Amino acid sequence: MRRIIPVLLCLSLSLNACARTGSRDPLRGSEYVLGTICTISLLDGGSEAVLEAVFARLREIEARMSANRDGTEIAAVNDAAGKSPVRVSADTLYVVRKALEYARLSDGAFDPTIGPVVKLWNIGLEGERVPEAREIKETLPLVDWRSVVLDERSSTVFLRRAGMRLDLGAIAKGYAADETARILGERRVRAAVVDLGGNVLVYGKKTDGSPWRVGVQNPFGDRGTYLGIVSMGAGTVVTSGIYERFFEQDGKRYHHILDTRTGRPVESDLVSVTVIAPSSIDADGLSTTLFALGRERGLALVKTLPGVEAVYVDDRRRLYFSAGASKIFSLTDKGFTPAE
Ligand code: ADP
Ligand code: MG
Repeated sequence: MRRIIPVLLCLSLSLNACARTGSRDPLRGSEYVLGTICTISLLDGGSEAVLEAVFARLREIEARMSANRDGTEIAAVNDAAGKSPVRVSADTLYVVRKALEYARLSDGAFDPTIGPVVKLWNIGLEGERVPEAREIKETLPLVDWRSVVLDERSSTVFLRRAGMRLDLGAIAKGYAADETARILGERRVRAAVVDLGGNVLVYGKKTDGSPWRVGVQNPFGDRGTYLGIVSMGAGTVVTSGIYERFFEQDGKRYHHILDTRTGRPVESDLVSVTVIAPSSIDADGLSTTLFALGRERGLALVKTLPGVEAVYVDDRRRLYFSAGASKIFSLTDKGFTPAE
């Protein structure tokens, strides 16, 4: 979950244009939470107290949903796998429900029960390694989103089989960004940029009325270099790629988006996919889903989702757009070429 992807051009370029009323600089806070650097920039309205409320909420979401920490609700659900349902907060129930929605939509290419396989690889963490084929074979049957039982009435989650583990790493940051936007609304903030490790949400309206401009990370470049810009109203831009979290062994790269059929990193010519959508939980869930589905199935899925656009980048630096994406995206790095 640590990644800084779409870059915020707005910050340096248009701070004057979108400065907070009555003060010259945006009010900005950064904190390491949810496994990544989270930065909130209040451009119009808000106060230190608003920033504190947002970070308290992000810490709360992490404390409930992290799969890598003891004492979280997800850890409790995982510990009780095969034994008993566990009562969880409305937050966790909602995020698990959304994750299962993407599992259904992708016929299991996205699967929040990928946890045991994530643990085998430990990509980006201590002890990362290529597991034995036998270990993967033994673990794969535990990846089965249909064996997650949600009970809305009693607010419980139950994993049917011992050894199953939920991992919400592909979607929790999106929820956290949406919750940030909700708090900004309650606190009457008029314009803000939320960057949760590359999961970017632009909130409200810039004071000069111009569209937000969000950079899309160049997957081959250093962090912070972008290949193009998305011009948009309030909404969110989320990228999943093979370049942020990976390790290399014997000249081969092992990245962190896993193929639920093989238990190994997804093999394709894709380098990244960027999703533009109104809600961040959808954009985050979809960025991982679209990567796992691949370009053709992914773009076919996007067609069915109103308000959602996507840009795929392949290893030959070609770009593939959903129907609406080419209209809001401008290419700035001539090293990339639009395909078709
Ligand atoms: P990031 O966490 O870098 O923002 P993603 O949103 O794409 O990137 O999420 C990747 C994370 O999702 C992995 O680290 C892992 O925890 C989890 N994951 C990996 N493969 C899958 C999958 N097929 N379905 C659901 N979650 C996955
Ligand atoms: Mg994601």
